[in-house]
Amino acid sequence: MKYAQRSIRYRLLPITSAKHQKLMQVTGACIWVWNRMLAWNEQEYFFHERLPWMVDAPSTMFFSLGKQFTKLRSETDWLRELPFSAVRYTLKHQAEAWRKFFKKQGGRPKFKSKYGARTVTFPEPTLFHIRGNNLRLQKLGWFRIARRGGDPYRKYEARSVTIKRECGKWHAVVLYKVPVHAVTSPDNGKAIGVDMNVGQAATSDGDIIRLDTDRIARLEARKRRYQRRLARQVKGSNRRHLTKQRLSKVCRNIRCYRGNWHHHVSKQLASSAGTIVTEALNTKGMAASAKGTEDAPGKNVKAKSGLNREILNTGWHALEQKIGYKAARHIQVDPKYTSQTCSHCGYVDAKNRTTQAHFECLACGYTDNADVNAALNILAFGIGAAGRGGGDIGRPVKRQRMGKISIADFAT
Ligand SMILES: [Zn+2]
Repeated sequence: MKYAQRSIRYRLLPITSAKHQKLMQVTGACIWVWNRMLAWNEQEYFFHERLPWMVDAPSTMFFSLGKQFTKLRSETDWLRELPFSAVRYTLKHQAEAWRKFFKKQGGRPKFKSKYGARTVTFPEPTLFHIRGNNLRLQKLGWFRIARRGGDPYRKYEARSVTIKRECGKWHAVVLYKVPVHAVTSPDNGKAIGVDMNVGQAATSDGDIIRLDTDRIARLEARKRRYQRRLARQVKGSNRRHLTKQRLSKVCRNIRCYRGNWHHHVSKQLASSAGTIVTEALNTKGMAASAKGTEDAPGKNVKAKSGLNREILNTGWHALEQKIGYKAARHIQVDPKYTSQTCSHCGYVDAKNRTTQAHFECLACGYTDNADVNAALNILAFGIGAAGRGGGDIGRPVKRQRMGKISIADFAT
């Protein structure tokens, strides 16, 4: 059987001051160990770069870091009171950060502030136990866990638990090992095309699912206000600290609101059709600044920057990913001409799209909502692509790209 990993987030409740203290202690130890090891490695590198014949480059693999941690722990009394594997696991992330840095996929590992994110991972099922609504963590004792909106994967095996502090509240993220069939919707044989546009998703069935962009805009405005206020306030002051807390709360609201919308839309789509066709959008390229260079200034800089915000607000990529695992079958097609082609006769012309919302074919006179028309085209392209791909129906066909699109494709 094939398995997938799904994470479920719970609130840890109630947090007494003793429990809060304990969690602060463990997460603080993770930060301390991270910084300590990083400082040691940075020092070794410093000497290695200057005296390469005398000092070897330090090994930044998890195995070597783990060995050093064991030594550090035996010398530090207070560290011995805390769960061994969980605190050591922070070095797994550090090893990963070094690996990415050497492969030029990321920046140099940074020191962590005690005011920053607080997190600790219990990486093995032996280090925790879930019974009913209670979670026991090694050396930390029992916590009650709560979640709104059901608990879909409780009957499956829990692989790891990550404790996180967000906006002053403690959460447990439990990773479950779930069989793939429990995650994806059953294939009902139906196929729909989805056109993702700024702040909305249109389906080939004619449905338009809108994101409440007004609400996002309100939250974004509040976020910018706090950012401006933060810039004016004195560093280290209590008022600045308060603004910081409020800012992170707004950011969290935006993130959660958008994520929730993605889950609802992808669920709705995946349960209505077995096969979902979307455009393979290059959001990164689209969101690239239109500013250009000094010699070749870009056009429509102002308009593009407004669009950028909205593109990022809709978060197409996150939505596509969720469709990718919830749908029985997910096909991606080349987005070229999907908005200019007539879904009725196949006539391609940029003038077909009279306004942003309205589509009227110059050849046959077919009219429709421009996004629904695009969704119909995406569906047609997707089914054509799947057909020519050898007809592997039933198996997910991912990232299948169309070649050139010609009117002949629509004749069949
Ligand atoms: Zn037409």
